[in-house]
Amino acid sequence: MSQFIDAFARKFYYLRLSVTDVCNFRCTYCLPDGYKPQGVTNKQFLTLDEIRRLTAAFAAAGTEKVRLTGGEPSLRRDFTDIIATVKQTPGIRQLAVTTNGYRLARDVAQWRAAGLDAINVSVDALDARQFHAITGQDKFHQVMAGIDAAFSAGFEKVKVNAVLMRDLNDHSLHTFLAWIKTRAIQLRFIELMETGEGSALFRRHHVSGEVIRQQLLMQGWQLQERGRSDGPAQVFRHPDYLGEIGLIMPYEKDFCTHCNRLRVSAVGNLHLCLFGDGGVPLRDLLVQDDQQAELQARIAHSLGEKKQTHFLHQGQTGITQNLSFIGG
Ligand code: SAM
Ligand code: SF4
Repeated sequence: MSQFIDAFARKFYYLRLSVTDVCNFRCTYCLPDGYKPQGVTNKQFLTLDEIRRLTAAFAAAGTEKVRLTGGEPSLRRDFTDIIATVKQTPGIRQLAVTTNGYRLARDVAQWRAAGLDAINVSVDALDARQFHAITGQDKFHQVMAGIDAAFSAGFEKVKVNAVLMRDLNDHSLHTFLAWIKTRAIQLRFIELMETGEGSALFRRHHVSGEVIRQQLLMQGWQLQERGRSDGPAQVFRHPDYLGEIGLIMPYEKDFCTHCNRLRVSAVGNLHLCLFGDGGVPLRDLLVQDDQQAELQARIAHSLGEKKQTHFLHQGQTGITQNLSFIGG
């Protein structure tokens, strides 16, 4: 099977796979009222065999990087087995996870041993009280211990995601910079995105990453080049810092030009964009190993429908009620 490609000649090297919708945090911008099952019980999320077939089909069509996300992916009891299964797929060169860090301290060494290459941990504030206020969980110290445990387990670098929010953390750049001065952390500010459930919060707290970019450039930080399976962050480095800063600015013009990723939800629907409509069911083609060619054909055909850009600027958030549903 040849490389997955869309009508705008974008090639897809990167699969973001949600393995569960369930989450134990209540981040204000994502699940402010906590996770509520919507007719799908835990048992109905993709099984290990389905994940294996799906990853094999993507890998055989050019995917080289997989990110496991959710919900909170580490709440799956078989999460370490999922890591091992995806990592053993021929063609997958990089396996990453995005986690809220809740299980890191306990499990990260096990994940590393199973083949995990990269970790992103979400930490929106470096102050325990503010962390609690944003996530609904008093787990700041546990998450910090988890990051230390990741370094101890052999990860040379850890990425940390912080959603940039006006009046909450947009004035904390100096605190974040001090934290990464001697730590190999890539701290990534993500612009708050509007979701179906989060319009009021968006209007109150959205702030452009441009504010941060100007401060970084003034302080001598330099923009780095992007690799073909890299995520969307603009990465900055500075000779005096061990850590790096990433900026993820989906509202910036041309953000979608370099899109290299596809998403599959925890129930096996292909999403061409985080903010697309609908979703293409794939599950009926994940039943047996010999369905791979048919599965790839359906994905390749669906790619013809991938739009050139999202319509967030017009306030159209598609079916994305919150990001826990197909992973951020
Ligand atoms: N539970 C895991 C975690 O929090 O890292 C993985 C799933 S979470 C949906 C993935 C990423 O999306 C997190 O870094 C989170 O901060 C980000 N996110 C969630 N809702 C968002 C929003 N409305 N705007 C921007 N980023 C958001
Ligand atoms: Fe859970 Fe992650 Fe959403 Fe926070 S951002 S509520 S940790 S899925």
